[in-house]
Amino acid sequence: MAYKTKILATQFVTHDTKRFLLSRPSAFQWQPGQGVELVIDEAPWDQEDGRPFTPTGQGHDQVLEFIIKRYAEHQGVTDHLHTLAPGSQLLMSKPFGAIGYKGKGVFIAAGAGITPFLGIFRQLAAEDELAGNSLLYANKTPADVICQQELEFYFGEKAIFTCTRGNFSGYGQGHIDKEFLTRHVADFDRYFYVCGPKAFVKDISAALTELGAGSQSLVYDD
Ligand SMILES: Cc1cc2nc3c(=O)[nH]c(=O)nc-3n(C[C@H](O)[C@H](O)[C@H](O)COP(=O)(O)OP(=O)(O)OC[C@H]3O[C@@H](n4cnc5c(N)ncnc54)[C@H](O)[C@@H]3O)c2cc1C
Repeated sequence: MAYKTKILATQFVTHDTKRFLLSRPSAFQWQPGQGVELVIDEAPWDQEDGRPFTPTGQGHDQVLEFIIKRYAEHQGVTDHLHTLAPGSQLLMSKPFGAIGYKGKGVFIAAGAGITPFLGIFRQLAAEDELAGNSLLYANKTPADVICQQELEFYFGEKAIFTCTRGNFSGYGQGHIDKEFLTRHVADFDRYFYVCGPKAFVKDISAALTELGAGSQSLVYDD
């Protein structure tokens, strides 16, 4: 791993997702949308493979922000990360990944798949370049939506939140699929940024292609 970092503070964002503020190694540079691997630098966790996560802040920030969902049932790295206190040491890889801003388009996320987009949105907001972009964001229930107020502030009515486990006032109902895209996307001749579980990315990419989006306009990590 290329860098050493430590937890400065943590805070709940939803019932199972926390914001982690980490010290920023002086040589660390990344582009919004890129991921890194993190390893917990304490035995026996330092023997585990790194797990990929995405810095959600901007390139000039003095500290690094990560938003990390806990999978308690895996009893893996995210479960243990959520128990760590400020001062705990982590190892971090160099950044990698294909998600980056190419131009105005539709951002389509599920669950923690919003994380690579948050850094992009924050940078676009700082540059006053958000207009012309929109967001479709799927979660199980309203309690699972990450940073909803911030996303509403950025996108207003151009953010559509849909819940897959029930019918909730103020939210769309059901998965993002071909029919949902047909209803909510007027123009398929634009960029589409897709992030979420592997099956979500595969299904949405296939649906977008069927609806006329060009392969060059689809932006996602394989
Ligand atoms: C490029 C990239 C960027 C990412 N960025 C973020 C981010 O910023 N924030 C975020 O929250 N997530 C992000 N993720 C997802 C994140 O990497 C995973 O949630 C994380 O790796 C899970 O690690 P874990 O050790 O907790 O669980 P795992 O590595 O999934 O599993 C640990 C153990 O549990 C077992 N297991 C796996 N699935 C199950 C299951 N369903 N039930 C029971 N046991 C199971 C495994 O076999 C393994 O032994 C990103 C993923 C990628 C690819």
